[in-house]
Amino acid sequence: MYLKSLDLFGFKSFAEKTHLDFEPGMTAVVGPNGCGKSNVADAVRWVLGEQRPTMMRGQSMEDCIFNGTDSHKALNMAEVSLTIGDCRTEPNFEYDEVCLTRRVFRSGESQYFLNRQPCRLKDLQRLFMDTGVGTDAYSIIEQGKIDRVLSSRPQDRRAVFEEASGITRFKNDKKEALRKLERTEANLMRLADVIREVK
Ligand code: ATP
Repeated sequence: MYLKSLDLFGFKSFAEKTHLDFEPGMTAVVGPNGCGKSNVADAVRWVLGEQRPTMMRGQSMEDCIFNGTDSHKALNMAEVSLTIGDCRTEPNFEYDEVCLTRRVFRSGESQYFLNRQPCRLKDLQRLFMDTGVGTDAYSIIEQGKIDRVLSSRPQDRRAVFEEASGITRFKNDKKEALRKLERTEANLMRLADVIREVK
C-alpha cells in the first residue's frame, strides 16, 4: 500500500481546498521556510487519528484549524482526506483503494469517515494495525524520530519490529481481553456481595 493523495481544507495553513498527488516511490516536499511542508506531514498523521496536540506541534486540536491571515478570515472546520492505494497487498482490505477522512470543528466535535461512510476512530486504527501505516507506525518518520529509534529503550525499538511483523493487532486484542476480564471479575465480586446481603 502507498499514500496516493491528500486533500486538505482548513487544515493549518491550507485555507483553500488543496489536492496533492503522490506517485508510488519516494516523494519529497520542498519549499521555502514556513511554506507548510511540515503541515503536510502533520495532516497525514492527523487523518490517521493522532490525538496528541503536541505531536501536531500545537497546544490543542483547535490549532489544526486555519486561524486566519490578513487576507483570509479564520475557518470553523478543518478537513483532511487521505487516499491509500494498492490496499489489497494487506490481508484485511476488501478494496484496492481506501479513503480516510477526518473533520474537526471549533466546537471540538470530531468526525471520521472511511470511504465517505461515518466510522469510529477505533475502526480506522484497527484497520491499519500491523500495516506500518498509523500515527505511531513507521510510515511517518518525522524530524528526530530516527535518533529516537536508534537511542531509545530496547522495548521502544521492539515496538517498531512488532508493527512490521504484524503482531501489534494481537497484542492489542490481548490488552482489551484482559481489561474485559478485570471488569467482569469486579462485577462478579459486586454480585457476590449483593447475594451475601440478600441471604
Ligand atoms: P520549515 O522549513 O521552517 O520547517 P515548513 O515549510 O515545514 O517550515 P510549516 O511548519 O509546515 O512550514 O508551516 C508553518 C506555517 O504554517 C507558519 O506560517 C504558520 O503560521 C502556519 N500555520 C500553522 N498553523 C496554522 C493555523 N492553524 N492557521 C494558519 N496558519 C497556520
